[in-house]
Amino acid sequence: MDCLFCAIIDGDIPSRQVYADDTAVAFLDINPLHRGHTLVVPRLHVSDVLADPETLSLIAPAIQRTGRLLVERLGADGMNLLVNSGAVAGQEVFHLHVHLIPRYADNPGMRGLLQRSPAADLDEVQRQIVGS
Ligand code: 5GP
Ligand code: ZN
Repeated sequence: MDCLFCAIIDGDIPSRQVYADDTAVAFLDINPLHRGHTLVVPRLHVSDVLADPETLSLIAPAIQRTGRLLVERLGADGMNLLVNSGAVAGQEVFHLHVHLIPRYADNPGMRGLLQRSPAADLDEVQRQIVGS
């Protein structure tokens, strides 16, 4: 099976990982909407959130822990969680993933969600989150 996120989970394609546990891996989105934009993906391949009744709840602890990490380390003021299901909804990678999009007081509200922020230095953002 040819799946980008399975390849990232297996380490065959590099990513900037910020959290991992038995159920999920979290890494920075390569094209962030806001500073610290992170994807939480289940280790098991599931194509999308509607394909399986268990997977989203299985990775809920990883989502919460990653979210706390982003808020605490990046000083975010809030966060959007986003799951796209199906191409018409904007899903481009067909391995279930939850977008964790930290939000900051200088650009608030839903209307600011999809306005791309200035290109972030992803290596610096990763260092700030994982503390190395
Ligand atoms: P979707 O549109 O499927 O909900 O989200 C896919 C996300 O994966 C996009 O936000 C896109 O920027 C991100 N993405 C695509 N290719 C890569 C990659 O090779 N590495 C990382 N870290 N993110 C990727
Ligand atoms: Zn996959």
